[in-house]
Amino acid sequence: MSKTDLRPALSRMLPYTPGEQPPPGKFIKLNTNESPYPPPQEVIRAIQDAATGPLNRYPDPTARSFRNEASRVLGLPSPDWILAGNGSDEILTILVRGFVGEGQKLRLPYPSYILYRTLADIQGARWEQTPFLDGWHLPTMFGQGDADLRLVLLPNPNSPSGTIVPKDEIAKLAESLPCPLVVDEAYADFAGDNCLDLVRSHDNILVTRTLSKSYALAGIRFGFLVGSPAILGKLGNIKDSYNCDYLATVAATAAIGAQDWLRETVETMNQTRARMETRLAELGFNVTPSKANFVWCTHPSGEHEAMHQFLKKNQVLVRYMNFPDWGDGLRISVGTDQQVDACLMLLERYLS
Ligand SMILES: *Cc1c(COP(=O)(O)O)cnc(C)c1O
Repeated sequence: MSKTDLRPALSRMLPYTPGEQPPPGKFIKLNTNESPYPPPQEVIRAIQDAATGPLNRYPDPTARSFRNEASRVLGLPSPDWILAGNGSDEILTILVRGFVGEGQKLRLPYPSYILYRTLADIQGARWEQTPFLDGWHLPTMFGQGDADLRLVLLPNPNSPSGTIVPKDEIAKLAESLPCPLVVDEAYADFAGDNCLDLVRSHDNILVTRTLSKSYALAGIRFGFLVGSPAILGKLGNIKDSYNCDYLATVAATAAIGAQDWLRETVETMNQTRARMETRLAELGFNVTPSKANFVWCTHPSGEHEAMHQFLKKNQVLVRYMNFPDWGDGLRISVGTDQQVDACLMLLERYLS
């Protein structure tokens, strides 16, 4: 033990590696599920106006303007059903900190969002990965747990698969669990369905949302949690006092109000996704039908890593993912039609 060692629990942790973020302009970026489109005009104008706002003052600690607008748009009973965060990654941190003590256990499906494991490791908690069954179904045991199971995390739609667990199954899952079930809805806007109404019927269901994907604001950092006011009140006590900055709150408030823009953009991207799925299948890929803004595909040749490298050499970034004991493949974000065509053309060239 040296003077500068971190906590012992951290020596075992698996650090999370985010997708590559090269300087802008050089690559067609289809690797981190960002929107290929700029955010709505209302957001740009709101940020411009905010630049002459009270930047010398601390922001509203609870992002009230955002919560008012979001609760109205989402049809929630009141703004107290929303906890705002610095990206939904911060919300996930708050949830793990709040519910899972050192040595206690959280559960996640596999393969899914790797960050959950990292958050458990930081906490000195244990994690349990339950593999999806064929067809991306959850096994029955996913809904069982002993007393030390403190939290279950389920991305829905899932990443990297883009698949969803039906809402009735989620309700049953929550009923059988001895702990909160977090439904991470980072991609729900692309899916046409979500679990927001379950939050009202099941107080152990908590839904996380982000402005990073469907609202095209990954650079702004804003996400939120939807849950019963009693639980959110307690979780609010463990967040940083000023976790959402003024500019981010202004931008997020304008964005959540732009529902017409959201509908149109999602429709466009889902059409691009359908074209992508068709063309990838024609090229011989096994394509998992996606409900998100990305497509998971594998190729019988197994040359996923080489394809990733070939694309990168030609200025197209996609995500190569390798899940130990499970397999590897490519996760390709839905870009503009032009970006997706460039990627598909290169894959065709690689395979010919
Ligand atoms: C992108 C993503 C997030 C993170 O969203 P931020 O709000 O940008 O932190 C959370 N969960 C999943 C499954 C994601 O893919």
